[in-house]
Amino acid sequence: MKYIFGNWKMFLDYDESIALANEVKSLSYAPEKLQLTVFPNYLALHDIVQILKDTKIGVGAQTVSRRPQGAYTGAISAYLVKKIGCTHGLVGHSERRYIFHESDEDIHDKIEASFKVGLSPVLCVGETEEDLKEGKRQYRLKKQLMKALEGIEFTPSVPFFVAYEPVWAVSSGKPCNPADADDVHGWIKEELKQYTDMIVPVLYGGSVDQENVVSYLSRETIDGVLVGSASTKRDSFAQIIARANEI
Ligand code: PEP
Repeated sequence: MKYIFGNWKMFLDYDESIALANEVKSLSYAPEKLQLTVFPNYLALHDIVQILKDTKIGVGAQTVSRRPQGAYTGAISAYLVKKIGCTHGLVGHSERRYIFHESDEDIHDKIEASFKVGLSPVLCVGETEEDLKEGKRQYRLKKQLMKALEGIEFTPSVPFFVAYEPVWAVSSGKPCNPADADDVHGWIKEELKQYTDMIVPVLYGGSVDQENVVSYLSRETIDGVLVGSASTKRDSFAQIIARANEI
C-alpha cells in the first residue's frame, strides 16, 4: 500500500475546497494499492467528510489541539474532528512548528490526544537548512522523534504515520533527492522501533509534484507522499494519483 496525503493548507476557500473534494471523489484509482487522504481547512472539514463518506478516501485535520476539552478559545480538539468523521490529524507540521511556534511538548500531547480518541496521528519531522549545513540532520530528527514519542501509549488499532518533511524542501520547489530521502526513511524506520512495534508507514513530503512523485514512491522505504501545493490543484493532484496508481 502506498499513501497519498494532500495537505491543502490555507490555499482554498470553502467553495474551492468542496469543488476539489468532488473532483478527487470522481478520480479512478485502485484503493487496494493507494490510500488517499485529504486535509482541508477546518471550515470545509465536515462537508468534505460527507462528500467522501462512501469512498475509501480519508479526511484529516491540519492540526488538532493538545487539550481534550474546555475553555480554550479558538481551539479544535482531536475529539471534535474525530466526532465529525475525520480519520487523520497532522501533528508537528513545520509550518506549525516554525510559524506558530508549537513546541515539542505540544506535539507530544497532540499525538497522545489523537490516540486517545482514535484519530490517526501523522507526525511530521524534518531538519532545517541550517541543520543540514551543520551536519545535524540525524540529530534533529532523533530529537523530534524522541520528544514526540517518548511515553506515548500506541493504540495498535489506530494507524500511526510519520512524514519526513525536510523544512528546506517544503514549499520551496527544492525537493529532497529521492536517494537521500530513501536513506533517511530507512534510518527513521530503525529509530521508530524503540518506540513501537507497530508497522509505521513513513511518507516523504517537500515539493512533491506530478513529475517527481514516482521517483519517491518507487522506493521501498518510502511508503507514500505528503503533498502540499500540488494537491490543491485538480490537474496536478489527479496526475499524482494517476502516476502513483501505475506503479
Ligand atoms: C506540506 O505542506 O506538507 C508540503 C510538503 O508542502 P509542499 O508539497 O507544497 O512542499
